[in-house]
Amino acid sequence: MTTNGKPKFAMYWAASCGGCEIAVLNTHEKILDVDANFDVVFWPVAMDAKYKDVEAMEDGSILLTLFNGGIRNDENEHLAKLLRQKSKIMVAFGSCACEGCIPGLANLSPVGDIVHTAYNTITTDNPNEIYPRTSYDVPEGELHIPTLAKVLRPLEQVVDVDYFMPGCPPESHQIAAVIDLVIKVVKGEAELPPKGAVIGAGDSTVCDECPRARNVKLIKEFTRIQDIAPVDPDLCLLEQGIPCNGPATRSGCMARCPGVGAQCIGCYGPAEGVMDYGARLITAFSSVIDATEPEEIDRILDGIPDPTGQVYRFNLAGSLLKANRDAWKVK
Ligand code: SF4
Ligand code: SF4
Ligand code: SF4
Repeated sequence: MTTNGKPKFAMYWAASCGGCEIAVLNTHEKILDVDANFDVVFWPVAMDAKYKDVEAMEDGSILLTLFNGGIRNDENEHLAKLLRQKSKIMVAFGSCACEGCIPGLANLSPVGDIVHTAYNTITTDNPNEIYPRTSYDVPEGELHIPTLAKVLRPLEQVVDVDYFMPGCPPESHQIAAVIDLVIKVVKGEAELPPKGAVIGAGDSTVCDECPRARNVKLIKEFTRIQDIAPVDPDLCLLEQGIPCNGPATRSGCMARCPGVGAQCIGCYGPAEGVMDYGARLITAFSSVIDATEPEEIDRILDGIPDPTGQVYRFNLAGSLLKANRDAWKVK
């Protein structure tokens, strides 16, 4: 508690796009409840506070930290450990923190290749191969910029996590429900779920919330949705040959994408009980293939463009694989 009697709240943005922060602001008037019930002590995107302010706090003095973003560099890791030490409840907030998300796809490449690509683009003239140094001496002292880790890690691979809130970003109504729950817990009107629980999401699959009919139709080929015209508005997209990730993806978004004619791409992460998201998805895709010969099955599966992006777009860093083997090598 602070001198104003309110519990402390923090939010941090590690390797991420910032969309999760915007999603919190998108809760509209609910954000006033955060202000009314919490003392916001650290939220770099919304207020001025320094790392040393957090370092000076007592251990466990922050009630709730929503941590979004994956751990990609030593600064991310330092803040994850610091906020873990200072927080009673640490929530991996959003797909980047929970499972790596889009930044985690960089785990397909060694860090040297990532830096080389970033500094040699079509619009980047770098004839002398100049790359950033992680430290540099200036008259005022030594300057540091964060050092990239070999791979991006989801939050739980670095610190103990109390709760996981999936989504890219989490849906605003789900964020609002979690804020309401924590406020009730603070007032002694509710209890927290068991440690390690997934919050702000469902416990089944996107298919269970999807309004489209499933008729056990089998397919002879996979096709990109933009190459099918017209798309049947009522039939399961997977049964139309469009790779839809609904069968392996956690519910909670009310099937937002298939409900408006786009396939689910999996942003709510693995459904309850799924050990490896990609493996479960391949199983689901295989179940609609109308073929028995291995060559024919291979031909149909080859019709999925960008297979890694399809089955691990959000989950590569959190998968059993975690990364391409080359990504672990130092260059
Ligand atoms: S989970 Fe999605 S919205 Fe949130 S920070 Fe990551 S990429 Fe952005
Ligand atoms: S596979 Fe996709 S379109 Fe089919 S029922 Fe599941 S979520 Fe809906
Ligand atoms: S349908 Fe799939 S991709 Fe779309 S919001 Fe829901 S979980 Fe995310």
